[in-house]
Amino acid sequence: MAAQLIREWSGIQQFPTATQTKLLELLGKLKEENVSTVTILVMGKGGVGKSSTVNSLLGERVAAVSAFQSEAMRPIICSRARAGFTLNIIDTPGLVEGGFVNEHALEIIKRFLLNKTIDILLYVDRLDGYRVDNLDRQVIKAITDSFGKGIWQRGLVVLTHAQLSPPDGLSYDEFFSRRSEALLKVVRLGGQIRRQELEARPVPFVLVENSGRCNTNDIGEKILPNGTAWLPELVKTITEVVLNGSKPILVDQKLIEGPDPNSKGRFLIPFILAFQYFLVVKPIKGAIKGDIARESKPLWELRDLGLAKRQF
Ligand code: GDP
Ligand code: MG
Repeated sequence: MAAQLIREWSGIQQFPTATQTKLLELLGKLKEENVSTVTILVMGKGGVGKSSTVNSLLGERVAAVSAFQSEAMRPIICSRARAGFTLNIIDTPGLVEGGFVNEHALEIIKRFLLNKTIDILLYVDRLDGYRVDNLDRQVIKAITDSFGKGIWQRGLVVLTHAQLSPPDGLSYDEFFSRRSEALLKVVRLGGQIRRQELEARPVPFVLVENSGRCNTNDIGEKILPNGTAWLPELVKTITEVVLNGSKPILVDQKLIEGPDPNSKGRFLIPFILAFQYFLVVKPIKGAIKGDIARESKPLWELRDLGLAKRQF
């Protein structure tokens, strides 16, 4: 990985003591499993809370947050070290522009990631979205096409704006489960992941509330309407995904450029030629010969061959 400034993760001290203890415990667990660096890639549409989530996780303001669409076009990487453990977080610009996937932004992100290893993909969206549509599917597909299907084995979906009162008399948990089901379907379709694969290794969903007005419990931890302290829960889920036995994604030149169109399928050429000869050319030749043999010859031809009597 290219050299980058690694600072002490001092933001962790901003968290309530209970959260700090839980986070350090989780980092300890990773170190026990010989994981001393985790690189998190944060992606999603614009304005869903990617940068805010990065700031919440680190406990400092490193990424610019904006309510309006003036997002930076370039990804940023932020590295923090604590107790022999390094956390890298990569915040990226939104992937959608004018109702389409912004291929240019995607290209910039891919180049930025060259020679980096992604341990975790945080796919961010809002909990208080009521629809998933084709655009969501396109965004998931663009991520899958860029980094391969395996990225979803290292993925988790983060739903921001999680402090909400569900509409239509639904309970909080019911609303969350409906929203996550709808998004999971899109991940399955856009990522072309088979149902069985998802069942074997589910993509977890985590709720996040980045707002300063998030409720807290009596030990000062930010909590969701269902009482869960969400920050330790997020880090716990990240830890579980890192240790789930799947492979991290190394972004190399080959991955960025995709398969070489000139060599793609080259090995198939002799088979295609053989196929053409035996199944197309040969039967046609045979059919023509047969036709010629069966053909009733016109009188003039038989005459020329001396087989018919000349008639005057
Ligand atoms: P990004 O474009 O995906 O990086 O989104 P930002 O992090 O810049 O956030 C866009 C807007 O949503 C900003 O005004 C944030 O303050 C706000 N926002 C982000 N996350 C949350 C959240 O969890 N709850 C609330 N209430 N607002 C949020
Ligand atoms: Mg942003």
